[in-house]
Amino acid sequence: MDLEQVLQQASVLAQDMLAPRAEAVDREARWPKAEVRQLLEAGLGGLVLPREFGGLGQGLLGLTRVCETLGGACASTSMCVGMHMVGSAVIAARPTSVQAERYLRPTAEGKHLTTLALSERGTGANFYIPQTTLARRSDHYEVNGHKAFVTNGGEADSYVVSVVSVAGDAAPGEFSCVVVPARTEGMRWSGPWQGLGMRGNSSRLLDLHGVRIPLENLLGGEGDEIWYVLEVVAPYFLAAMTGTYLGIAARAVAIAIDHLQGRYYGHTRHSLAKQDVLQHRLGGLWAKVERTRQLAYHAAAAADQGDSTALPAVLSAKAEVADCCVDVVNDVMTLTGGQSYGENSELGRLLRDARAAHVMAPTTDILRTWTGRILLGEPMLGNE
Ligand SMILES: Cc1cc2nc3c(=O)[nH]c(=O)nc-3n(C[C@H](O)[C@H](O)[C@H](O)COP(=O)(O)OP(=O)(O)OC[C@H]3O[C@@H](n4cnc5c(N)ncnc54)[C@H](O)[C@@H]3O)c2cc1C
Repeated sequence: MDLEQVLQQASVLAQDMLAPRAEAVDREARWPKAEVRQLLEAGLGGLVLPREFGGLGQGLLGLTRVCETLGGACASTSMCVGMHMVGSAVIAARPTSVQAERYLRPTAEGKHLTTLALSERGTGANFYIPQTTLARRSDHYEVNGHKAFVTNGGEADSYVVSVVSVAGDAAPGEFSCVVVPARTEGMRWSGPWQGLGMRGNSSRLLDLHGVRIPLENLLGGEGDEIWYVLEVVAPYFLAAMTGTYLGIAARAVAIAIDHLQGRYYGHTRHSLAKQDVLQHRLGGLWAKVERTRQLAYHAAAAADQGDSTALPAVLSAKAEVADCCVDVVNDVMTLTGGQSYGENSELGRLLRDARAAHVMAPTTDILRTWTGRILLGEPMLGNE
């Protein structure tokens, strides 16, 4: 399948399956099990895996556009699938033959769900600084620590977990990633996820107590850490989120158009589409989404082509999308009046979902800072 075929298929599944169920996923804070599994089985499970492992061979542009398509229908489901794609990209970056057979081929067949467990309470938005430890024993590794906000928590088949070596003298930002299979002894999940938005995500807390994993579950070599952050984790993480939040913003504009065309006043017998001020406001909202989309596509395509100057655009795309989607959904709520302000309206859900864009790492403030540092020739990760 080429990208247009993938997008066509994603669009059909988004409209027929995700959109009608999005309200219930949000209301029930239900992890969308059937929906996620069906998307994986339809081929999206291997979206970003190389073709040699049975994947679709898509990169950041494909990931952005698929998440945009899904995100406009159900942002929670898009984030769940997006985090799977990021996790699978991390596994695929430097896989051993064992990892390819054990994780990548089942992922490409849609039978394996993975996800990313980076964030920790102790380092918060500095998602690239884990305090969870990895200790080498004679014939296995032992993992100890606490992960926060693990999307697909308790539901995935494996977890890509960032860890810092206890033996070495690793500097901040130096970490390794390991794959922890689900239900490994010593993993404990606490509490259900109860977010303001993104309520279907199952973004839960994970305690790891003396978790034993095989030596072959280390991704890359010890010391590949910064390479993983810059080349794989950050760009794929950003692309999945950029696409999802772009989808939310685009959906809000579609709701505005429907409302303005369909809302008639009895005293004028005209629709709101005839109001100059509202026409003008809609034009501005559309342009805001479109210019953000163009930045996002450009950044992803440039990074896919290995353009060494793409990083500021990749970072800024997610920051711009976060600003764009919160502002646009908020403004569309004004355009669509009391109907959208009602409890459980679709726009209300979009606003709650959109608000996660600024909070999810890399956060907007940190992305702006990183971009500035690159432009100034300063080290991107600074000294914190
Ligand atoms: C719905 C949802 C899903 C998530 N899914 C995942 C997931 O699948 N995997 C995962 O690993 N994580 C996930 N996260 C975690 C997320 O990516 C963030 O790491 C986390 O929310 C931020 O940590 P914190 O809440 O402790 O914020 P804090 O660290 O307390 O930060 C608070 C604020 O301070 C700002 N701040 C901190 N340091 C700086 C600085 N140096 N410069 C400027 N501003 C700064 C931050 O930008 C933020 O706005 C998810 C979060 C949410 C809400």
